Amino acid sequence: MKAAPDAQKRLLDLAELDSKLDRLAHRRRTLPELAEIDERSKRFAKLATEVIEAETESGDLAREQTKAEGDVDTVRARADRDQKRLDSGAVTSPRDLAGLQSEIASLQRRQSDLEEVVLEIMERREAAEARVRDLAAQRDEVAAGLTAAETSRDAALGDIGKEAGELQGRRAAVSGELPADLLALYEKLKEQYGVGAAMLHGGRCQGCKVALSIAEMNRIKAAPHDEVLRCDECRRILVRMPESGL
Ligand SMILES: [Zn+2]
Repeated sequence: MKAAPDAQKRLLDLAELDSKLDRLAHRRRTLPELAEIDERSKRFAKLATEVIEAETESGDLAREQTKAEGDVDTVRARADRDQKRLDSGAVTSPRDLAGLQSEIASLQRRQSDLEEVVLEIMERREAAEARVRDLAAQRDEVAAGLTAAETSRDAALGDIGKEAGELQGRRAAVSGELPADLLALYEKLKEQYGVGAAMLHGGRCQGCKVALSIAEMNRIKAAPHDEVLRCDECRRILVRMPESGL
């Protein structure tokens, strides 16, 4: 392939722009915010589930408490009714009186046991409610950090996008100046090797850093200026410049 030496030199500008674009793309993929967002999202989801579990437990205990308090009320009402019968003097038979007194005593023991149950449920409910508050606070803190990381990521992506846009504009201008066949070769090599063209600098290909043999240098020296050369080692377009060492 033949191309004017100036067009070949412009390939180095194109390669420089592409390398900057690659660095931007790499920065975009490896923003520290991305890892932080990922980690915080997972923690948020875990905490959100734990909050719901604690809320469910707290709700279950509230219902359990209502039921236990109902049981206490029922027993107390029966004891009160028995006590009223006793106080009314309507029961006179000693055997019935003894039976009534025994039932009242039994109901009072039962009430005391049930009140213990209520207290125990209340303690568990308070612990569950404290857990809900603690987990919800942790969840909210993680959510706030997540929002901050997302804002920071968006700002960074905005900066990168702006810089990439400017580079793309300059790249379009440079590619517009190049002959179509030379540009097509460059793009194909870029696709294959990441970088499409490199300078021959001091007898070395700057793409792969390999020093050219004396025979190779002699072949390049003898080649016409508009000949498009390729590095034997890395296959990139090798561009001759004053600093090539020829
Ligand atoms: Zn090379």
